[in-house]
Amino acid sequence: MEETKRNWKVTPEIQASADIDFTHLYPSQWEEERVWRRRVAERLSRLIRHAATQVPFYREKWNGAVPRDWTHINGEKLLQELPVITKSVLIEAFPDGCVAQNVPESRRQLEFTSGSTGQAFRFYRDITGMPARIACRRLMNQWAGIQQGDHLVWIGAPFHRIEELQGWRGIRHRVNVWLGREIPKFISVFDVSRKNVPYHLARITRSSDPYYIAGYTSTLVLMAQEIERQGLPIARRPRCVIATAETVSQTHRRLIERSFGSRAINQYASLEFGTVGFSCPDHPERMHFNAEWFVCEILLEDGRPAAVGETGHLVVTDLTNEVMPFIRYDTGDLVTVSGPCPCGRTWPAVAHVEGRTSDCFTTRSGRTIFSSVIDHFLQIQHDYTPYLVEYQTIRMSESEIQFIFVPTAGWTQKVERQLQHDLQSFFGEDFSVGLKAVSRIPREASGKRPLIKSMIPSDGDR
Ligand SMILES: [Zn+2]
Repeated sequence: MEETKRNWKVTPEIQASADIDFTHLYPSQWEEERVWRRRVAERLSRLIRHAATQVPFYREKWNGAVPRDWTHINGEKLLQELPVITKSVLIEAFPDGCVAQNVPESRRQLEFTSGSTGQAFRFYRDITGMPARIACRRLMNQWAGIQQGDHLVWIGAPFHRIEELQGWRGIRHRVNVWLGREIPKFISVFDVSRKNVPYHLARITRSSDPYYIAGYTSTLVLMAQEIERQGLPIARRPRCVIATAETVSQTHRRLIERSFGSRAINQYASLEFGTVGFSCPDHPERMHFNAEWFVCEILLEDGRPAAVGETGHLVVTDLTNEVMPFIRYDTGDLVTVSGPCPCGRTWPAVAHVEGRTSDCFTTRSGRTIFSSVIDHFLQIQHDYTPYLVEYQTIRMSESEIQFIFVPTAGWTQKVERQLQHDLQSFFGEDFSVGLKAVSRIPREASGKRPLIKSMIPSDGDR
């Protein structure tokens, strides 16, 4: 089956459904947990039953695990007995194995991604889930203080579906941006360098329209560092800055907040599901998941649910997609469970999204090292902030780590010796650590710049 991606327009009907969905979604965050859990359990039973009968992949995989009689089934309990699936098994089963046989083709919305591991992934979204996704984005935007009509400046990898940039409207927009009448809608991460941050900042802030910024964490951090270092003025502050696609540490969140003079929001979104989680508006060090449409489980390596303070795999079940159901899908992201959030919202909260499973590695002695931990070690435990512009930790082999970095003007031989010593004690006897100063750290083809990279193929290929 060869299909190309189509642009799906948000019709007035879809918008009207999204408005209705929003009126249900909004109170859900404050409801007693058992109330929304009851609704979710019902939706889960329906989805599992649908998948068990209509999707060949699940029918085979769950053989014997699902009941014949569905009258008194608790979807939440049943879910926990089903196997966790990964992207690779869906890639193998696509399309005939994992697409529901009874759902009309007109409901299929084809998406594909090359993925950071280079493995192409094609999947279908459900058109009927679009209003729920719009409602979710609207709620999370509301948490961030974004108002309807605010302009979005998206700083990411070039995305061929930015239709605003095509045709006459696109040309008019670009001319207006050039004349300083309009805010740019899109800035490519490949176009932002330390030197041209003042230029991009001027383009973003010179129009008088209210706006907010969303973009890849590494580029936002780079811009924030230059704003501070060069003392760049921000003519007009964004309503908020949303960091996405890459892990954001607390240090970076505070840096973005300080330099842009606005709230820094951490967003958890993916192409498969759209927006799933967002910083809590009252306790931004935590993130809430939209419990109404996503069942988010955090599971340890042995499949047990992670307890408060523990870090595990984020496994998502999407309640909005019947076309190609994602049931207990391992996202490849690692998150740390937090207790109930003091804000009073009952939706599940997590302390951190640690990043992709490829954003960490496990040492021979069994220690898992996350990029956020290295960042904390360098920026909080030891104050290397004045000496490091940026850095990347590369695992070269089983026993060798290369730490590449761009030094600041304050860099000295003494700092280098100290850093070498500190990093060696951090990584311990498992690794020999080498330092290498570079003038810049290149981005991956995806436009991202991971804090940790592994040259060992077995790492991060889940
Ligand atoms: Zn909260």
